[in-house]
Amino acid sequence: MKDNEMKNISPNSTYQEMTPAGNIYGSGTSQMFNTGDWRTATPVWAADICKQCLLCFPVCPDSSIPVSDKKRADFDFDHCKGCGICFKVCPFGAITMKDGE
Ligand code: SF4
Repeated sequence: MKDNEMKNISPNSTYQEMTPAGNIYGSGTSQMFNTGDWRTATPVWAADICKQCLLCFPVCPDSSIPVSDKKRADFDFDHCKGCGICFKVCPFGAITMKDGE
């Protein structure tokens, strides 16, 4: 299956449209899907407490912490799954977790 065909996959797709054994189509495919829609916990970023150390950014497994000009911004909640790794790694308490979305 080609990368552009991945865009046609939906909850209504049949198994015949999938790769054999459910193999991963390619790298970076989660960007095409809003994987954050099943989140059960949500990180809350306190911009006023954040020191912009960027320790949280590289540990996010879904690249849900946007960074530009060496500064992070608020989470990309379309893709954040609420795993809480950023919360664990922040040494300044600038991230808290809340239940639900
Ligand atoms: S780890 Fe904490 S202080 Fe550092 S950039 Fe992330 S939120 Fe800000």
